[in-house]
Amino acid sequence: GVWVDEFESLGLDDCLDKTWPMCCVYINDHKTKYLDRAYGRVSRKELKTKLLSGCVSNQVKFHKAKVWKIEHQEFESSVVCSDGSELKASLIVDASGFTSHFIEYDKPRSHGYQIAHGILAEVDNHPFDLDKMVLMDWRDSHLGSEPYLRKDNSKIPTFLYVMPFSSNLIFLEETSLVSRPVLSYMEVKKRMVARLRHLGIKVRSVIEDEKCLIPMGGPLPIIPQSVMAIGGNSGIVHPSTGYMVART
Ligand SMILES: Cc1cc2nc3c(=O)[nH]c(=O)nc-3n(C[C@H](O)[C@H](O)[C@H](O)COP(=O)(O)OP(=O)(O)OC[C@H]3O[C@@H](n4cnc5c(N)ncnc54)[C@H](O)[C@@H]3O)c2cc1C
Repeated sequence: GVWVDEFESLGLDDCLDKTWPMCCVYINDHKTKYLDRAYGRVSRKELKTKLLSGCVSNQVKFHKAKVWKIEHQEFESSVVCSDGSELKASLIVDASGFTSHFIEYDKPRSHGYQIAHGILAEVDNHPFDLDKMVLMDWRDSHLGSEPYLRKDNSKIPTFLYVMPFSSNLIFLEETSLVSRPVLSYMEVKKRMVARLRHLGIKVRSVIEDEKCLIPMGGPLPIIPQSVMAIGGNSGIVHPSTGYMVART
């Protein structure tokens, strides 16, 4: 998900497959905050196609292999690949994600983690307005009859992120915003089951499911260094929301 205005300013709004004119945040059972800002769901396929076609039209050459090693000489660097090939470069940009071994940091990387369990589901019905994306539903009344879940939820709370597509199709994601150590995935799933039961949402079928684990915060890469980090390995994931594609 992204804020529509952020994707518009990047010229990427044609990669959104669904938008909602506004968002809301349920603070608790008595207080709801409405955000007058449109939100959209990114079509991963459209975004990937658009980025790749931009590369193709700018004569980017692709080489499919795993990077094994990076070596630096005085005026040149080289990338040694799993297929035995060696590519020469004047600048190496590493976009290989959070677990990259090619970037140096000035401190040990002790992340917090965002963890979430999400389903795109066909349901009998649901209580959410179709014109609002629910950024966070922090209500915890569903834990009234689940005292063992309530105790842990008061230490590391989770919220529901909701994209209602129609009265029968909905994306639901129970999310722990950030914790160190990471909240157990099983606990996240149990809380989601309790919440959906309380909301009266009966899942007919799960069309897609996702496990989301995002390292949050941590040190920045040392500057200067021979390899340039970009993306998850460069510390640009927002430390308190987990967004990288969106800014906030
Ligand atoms: C389920 C889920 C939902 C998310 N939702 C959102 C969201 O709504 N909004 C948002 O902003 N962020 C979201 N995020 C976070 C976002 O996806 C990540 O922050 C982002 O993908 C990091 O991008 P990246 O390009 O740095 O790394 P990645 O997307 O991890 O890409 C790294 C790529 O490098 C490749 N690679 C790794 N090692 C090598 C190697 N040695 N040689 C060659 N290739 C290699 C990998 O195969 C991979 O293709 C979500 C994450 C998850 C898991």
